[in-house]
Amino acid sequence: EFSVRSEILDFDPYTPGLTIEQIRERYGLANVIKLASNENPLGASPVVQKVMAKNLDRIFRYPENNTPKLVTEISKHIGVPRESILVGNGSDEIIDMLFRMKARPGVSNVIGYEHSFAMYRMCAKLAGVEYREVKRGDPFELPLDKLAKAADENTAMVFVTSPDNPTGQAASVEDLSVLAGVLPKDCLLVVDEAYIDFVWPPESYTPVQAYDKFDNLVVLRTFSKAYGLAGLRVGYGILPPKLLGYLKNARIPFTVNLLAEEAAIAALNDDAFYNETLQVVMSGREYFMEALPKIGCKVYPSQANFVMFEPTKPAQTVFKSLLKKGIIVRPLGSFGLGKMIRVTIGTEAENKQFIKALGEVLGA
Ligand code: PMP
Repeated sequence: EFSVRSEILDFDPYTPGLTIEQIRERYGLANVIKLASNENPLGASPVVQKVMAKNLDRIFRYPENNTPKLVTEISKHIGVPRESILVGNGSDEIIDMLFRMKARPGVSNVIGYEHSFAMYRMCAKLAGVEYREVKRGDPFELPLDKLAKAADENTAMVFVTSPDNPTGQAASVEDLSVLAGVLPKDCLLVVDEAYIDFVWPPESYTPVQAYDKFDNLVVLRTFSKAYGLAGLRVGYGILPPKLLGYLKNARIPFTVNLLAEEAAIAALNDDAFYNETLQVVMSGREYFMEALPKIGCKVYPSQANFVMFEPTKPAQTVFKSLLKKGIIVRPLGSFGLGKMIRVTIGTEAENKQFIKALGEVLGA
């Protein structure tokens, strides 16, 4: 038998949400709705689909390495220089790259909150470094000062998801700036902004406006949510140029494919689709905040395109009963939140269908 590294032997894999096809097959249902992976309720922009079709005759060519056209578009869009933008195969790839660059096996440690996105912990394990989980307060606020206290001279990175997955809370730009300022010299503050498009008011929540004030700030963003391109795998990091240079030199070439680059450029420029997405998500979020308590659920405030709630029956039971009715949500056991469920905001019709089904399941 072949041997593998000890970290790999008992590796806890990432658990993705169930797919519509799986549930259709399992329960013989024709109509299944998925509110489990924080995808775009409107699908992908029709403009994107046209652009991809137009580029199909180019797919025998390699893409341009490091997606220079997309980098230029992102730079224009967010007002950050090209030298600070690195595109990856999903923001997941940027997270992986950061660990490859910064984590010294057996020496470094990395810090994040308990109940956080699984990739940070997984990458730490793969890299052979300690992952320090900082406890949260109740009700799941993000006590940034506790992160700073957990850091020492071997802390390579501190991860803050803002808005947070799965709780929905967002850290203010002031608090993030303070944290960036007090971390040890060699430690990066990585702010994972996968859900930043959905915050309100936007100016209160991202330190990117002041990216050039920090030399230790990394911001992660994705095209998987507000831009509706989860299946294409495109995300990006905003990083200090020197660090970005190292990542670029050592990266695997061509991980972002040619169609994905064209699609992301089109998505970035389709303001109508983007604005409609925000409108649907924000009104759906308000609806859930009102409707969930009416059927007895405890709901937590959210700045993202999902909400977390505690139902009046065990979360696993509720999850399974909803599946039988053709609705996929995300029970949060794998986040260490066994009583909680996360539901992605869908279209108005999907949201209503979900609340009706949940009411039936809970007998409310
Ligand atoms: N960070 C967080 C907090 C997420 O929830 C997700 C999506 N599950 C990602 C990163 C990964 O996004 P991408 O699709 O760009 O890899």
